Amino acid sequence: MTECIFCQIVEGSAPCHRVQEDELTLAFMDIFPLAPGHVLVIPKEHAENLFEIEEVSLLAVTRMTQRVAHALRAELEPDGIMMMQLNGAAAGQTVFHHHAHLIPRDEGSALAFHPRVRGGDAELTSLAHRIGKSLG
Ligand SMILES: [Zn+2]
Repeated sequence: MTECIFCQIVEGSAPCHRVQEDELTLAFMDIFPLAPGHVLVIPKEHAENLFEIEEVSLLAVTRMTQRVAHALRAELEPDGIMMMQLNGAAAGQTVFHHHAHLIPRDEGSALAFHPRVRGGDAELTSLAHRIGKSLG
């Protein structure tokens, strides 16, 4: 079995709060959210980061990221949404499977990176359901 946690999530051998998926991508709640509604979008095909990902997967991730951003805006009505994608440990990447972060932001809210406070399962499930439903 793969040691990559995101590949395990894609395979279904590790759990996630799934928001949406298509043939090439999966969107799910970050279990250590920087804000309520923090979603990760990953390619199903393993690639370490921006330097390794196949173009077709990257475009699919970008398309899904935009779709999820629309759903986040419609469902949670944040003042803004930050999109973040980290490449390499020095850049703060901690899971070495390409992923794009979507982080709802509100005016004046402090930005704390990786507080490592695990989100509550009930809240994550509820948010995944709301955002997924908004995606149709
Ligand atoms: Zn992987």
